[in-house]
Amino acid sequence: MSVRIVIGAQFGDEAKGKITDYLAADARYVVRTGGGPNAGHSIHLPEGLVVLHQLASGVLRHGVTGVSGPGMVLNPSRLEEELEDLERRQLLRGEVVLSDRAHVILPLHEIEDAWEDELRTQRDPAANLGTTRRGIGPAYADRAGRWGLRMADLTRPAVLRARLDLLYATKAQVPGLPPQEELAAQLSEVGGRLAPLIRPTEPMLWDAVARGESVLLEGAQSALLDLDFGTYPFVTSSHPTSAGALVGSGLPPTEVDEVIGVAKAYATRVGAGPFPTEESGPLGEFLRRVGGERGATTGRARRCGWLDLAMLRYVARLNGLTSWAITKVDVLGGLEQVPVSVRYELPDGSTIRDVLPSQAEDLAQARPVYEQLEGWPEFHERLKERIRREGAAALPASLRSFLERVGRETGVPVEYLGYGPGRDETLRLNVPLTQTTRGHRSAGSG
Ligand code: GDP
Repeated sequence: MSVRIVIGAQFGDEAKGKITDYLAADARYVVRTGGGPNAGHSIHLPEGLVVLHQLASGVLRHGVTGVSGPGMVLNPSRLEEELEDLERRQLLRGEVVLSDRAHVILPLHEIEDAWEDELRTQRDPAANLGTTRRGIGPAYADRAGRWGLRMADLTRPAVLRARLDLLYATKAQVPGLPPQEELAAQLSEVGGRLAPLIRPTEPMLWDAVARGESVLLEGAQSALLDLDFGTYPFVTSSHPTSAGALVGSGLPPTEVDEVIGVAKAYATRVGAGPFPTEESGPLGEFLRRVGGERGATTGRARRCGWLDLAMLRYVARLNGLTSWAITKVDVLGGLEQVPVSVRYELPDGSTIRDVLPSQAEDLAQARPVYEQLEGWPEFHERLKERIRREGAAALPASLRSFLERVGRETGVPVEYLGYGPGRDETLRLNVPLTQTTRGHRSAGSG
């Protein structure tokens, strides 16, 4: 079988969870490769909505092992709650494995996160990153500082105490930390309960690949929030790129067969940072309402705007994408015209097609140049039913040409389509819509 990477291609919330769940149907392992409980991957099962924060989307399927990989930062108490919730609802169908190398988010990281957020905002309200305050940034900072705690440490009380002692010594300036001994005792308890799930995950994946089993690497957040290649400093503290998926799983690049970029047919962003195609008027409100654009983790309203081809081209090149999954096309159904930004113009008269500037300040000056593409009809139940029955042949012609345009402009074919939140509302396009130099498509429908 194969190693496939699924990454977000915009600013997060592109429906990576749904696409991963769809692809997990023929996977043996699904690995979350970065981030932590700042993610919220929503999956609509017939039994109801599930939002996965720290578990891989594969845990909802029988016969799949969902790995929370070495590139993640895990909050053990929240993780236990997530497991209990799924168990109570009888939805935990796959096996759960937690990497012994994943770093631990402690209550002190959440305190630090809020404290840093306030510090930034006091100095300059525009510098507010809009973090989820779940301790992700401080936990990654401690990882790089080499005084972090890892999941394996939770199962060894003496090591845990020594590591915590050093960590506390670095936090003297952080107000309101819980007593160290109390925390050590709590962590040992949680560690004891989670111990059966904690193990080295890289050899397990190497062996799986050697046996020819299918492994899916599930990125969280999005390439445009990458610590180095995103809109720094308005980024996350990990690497949600295809390269990051390898570091976050321990799999080598030579094993990768496919890199699937997930993008909505429009764009959204949570928190601060440049967003050239943002629509702040009634059309933005329309997208927010029809698209249900509120954060799965925080409930915050998402900023909304139009599809941005300069960003998609950049993400395609940065990640070596082999195909697109374009989601939420139903949200735009009924619009007469669909605006798409084809490039940017900068104040000095230059244009940008596919290389984003390193300075967020420069990107904030970029003016999108729009083309109005022909819209497609609303996605009534009748149309959805036809798509389920007939596949790509039932897609409205204007939607097909929209997808072809995305393929042509980015040099990457659209292979998957999301036309509703339901598990069965994903289509694999059984006819490649665009021939490209990168194309490697196989036929078949899912
Ligand atoms: P993720 O973090 O990338 O997995 O995305 P989120 O779960 O935060 O946000 C995606 C939202 O869109 C969720 O509420 C999904 O249920 C919903 N969704 C996913 N695919 C589609 C689609 O094709 N159409 C519509 N209307 N909603 C979708």
